[in-house]
Amino acid sequence: MFKRILIANRSEIALRIIRACKELGIESVAVYSEADADARYLDMADETICIGPARSANSYLNIPRIISAAEVADVEAIHPGYGFLAENDHFAEVCDSCGIAFIGPKAETIALLGNKAAARKLAVENDVPVVPGSKGIVEDDKRLLEIAQEIGFPVIIKASAGGGGRGMRIAHNDISLVNAFLAARAEAEVAFGDSSVYVEKYIEKPRHIEIQILADKEGNIVHLGERDCSLQRRHQKIIEESPSPAISEEQRHRMGEAAKRICRAADYVNAGTVEFLVDKNMDFFFMEMNARIQVEHPVTEMVTGLDLVKAQLRIASGQPLGFTQDDVRIEGHSIECRINAEDPADNFRPSPGTISGYFQPGGRGVRVDSHVYAGYSIPPHYDSMIGKLIVHADCRKKAIIQIRRALEEYRIDGISTTIPLHSDIVRHPQFIKGEFDTSFLETFY
Ligand code: ADP
Repeated sequence: MFKRILIANRSEIALRIIRACKELGIESVAVYSEADADARYLDMADETICIGPARSANSYLNIPRIISAAEVADVEAIHPGYGFLAENDHFAEVCDSCGIAFIGPKAETIALLGNKAAARKLAVENDVPVVPGSKGIVEDDKRLLEIAQEIGFPVIIKASAGGGGRGMRIAHNDISLVNAFLAARAEAEVAFGDSSVYVEKYIEKPRHIEIQILADKEGNIVHLGERDCSLQRRHQKIIEESPSPAISEEQRHRMGEAAKRICRAADYVNAGTVEFLVDKNMDFFFMEMNARIQVEHPVTEMVTGLDLVKAQLRIASGQPLGFTQDDVRIEGHSIECRINAEDPADNFRPSPGTISGYFQPGGRGVRVDSHVYAGYSIPPHYDSMIGKLIVHADCRKKAIIQIRRALEEYRIDGISTTIPLHSDIVRHPQFIKGEFDTSFLETFY
């Protein structure tokens, strides 16, 4: 096992990784930007290094600065968390060439899966159904129109390098198609520095179901069941749960095996997630594979009893999984609410600022993964997620009662948060019945 690692991230996920390190007896080195200098989670790390100013490009996204910090701190490995450099194949390659283990898949695997068009091709070649669409990148609007007419409207144009719901546009007819194409390309260029897009059939009212994978260096691959991430705002997840209220044991098995086929074909190592859309007929279609730990990993931890971050560290250090698919048990039900510093009543406008009062829920089955506290100032430079509230109970009904109670207890003063919205959603009859899809929020709010 590693003795000392660097965490190339910030906020709740940095703290989550520090905690796993402590329990495994690994020393952790946390890097931070000037905007995060006062954050208290840094005190939990064994060493901290400032890597630059607030702007991510000059700090959390700056590869030379992070590598220099890793060399100065003399670490064996780097955990990238999620976001920032987590799915940057060049970063993984640089780590490798500096003799530092990258806690994640190989650079080639990240490059392959990061290209959504290439990942789709891989799925098709391995008998995993994909949403009907273009074979790869679409270069011009004439070709786009041909494909759209072939698969039928509505269609969705998506950035090949996409992530976080950006660079996506829906078109309902040939007239809106050209505008959608130009808008998606422009947004993709700004967000990812790559304007290439592809097109697929827009599935109406789908569920977003994803399969968690763990794969070791010896070729052992297991899936840990699914997460239902259908509750989204602007194609970004807001509530996740496991198991999904809509998936049968048989369907879980089929999707799990499909996810494993993709991993095997991509020579995948470490934790990863295969995302699917499930349509009204319960047919599933591969969407993409995320080559990193995900925000919503705790719901899987709660129902499987596994620690995914520790598993990542063990796998990266060369240890085998030590268990098989038959050993995986899904027990009870877990729900996660993403607590964002934003105002749901004002179109989810970010609401950075100082938290004047703070009380965190607790009690049986309640887990809060957050780095904030009373007096903490949320910097305006980064993602607006400030924590995650997770519950675990014997069944879905009890988990809903528990999360309602925990949301009522949760007090964050001085800023707007998504807590009131979550309180509404978990009382909604459709949510209680488990009958919802990705259009839920737009339809009801
Ligand atoms: P990102 O990587 O930007 O998060 P994804 O490909 O994972 O993008 O898609 C995010 C969300 O966008 C999905 O969960 C779903 O709600 C919606 N979406 C993506 N593709 C389609 C599609 N073909 N039909 C309907 N909805 C889609």
